[in-house]
Amino acid sequence: MSGGRQVDVLTTGEPPTCPRCEGDGLLSALVPYGWANAAGDPVDGRTGVVLCATCDASAPHAAPLITWFRVHGHVADQRGKEFVRLLVAWAGSVSVSPLDERTLDEEIGQWRNGSL
Ligand SMILES: [Zn+2]
Repeated sequence: MSGGRQVDVLTTGEPPTCPRCEGDGLLSALVPYGWANAAGDPVDGRTGVVLCATCDASAPHAAPLITWFRVHGHVADQRGKEFVRLLVAWAGSVSVSPLDERTLDEEIGQWRNGSL
């Protein structure tokens, strides 16, 4: 199985409720806890997270995704390259421990280069 990096956007038609400010979030998604544990084994636990334009406004990886929503309004195509790139960067920032960040950056770099 190599599905550990899967990020699923939950689309219910209703805006998700932000667990922090209880306002309307932009999207909710299931993201992995981490790409791999310290032994290098994939971690398949996942957790639901909400992107909130208010709470996440200053988060470095969330800001571009929030901007994307301001431009596009909604996710018409979850497989769109730009959306997926922003989504993966944001999901990584909320789910990956500091020890794993370097690996994630490398993986995103490979993804951008088309080698993943
Ligand atoms: Zn919020």
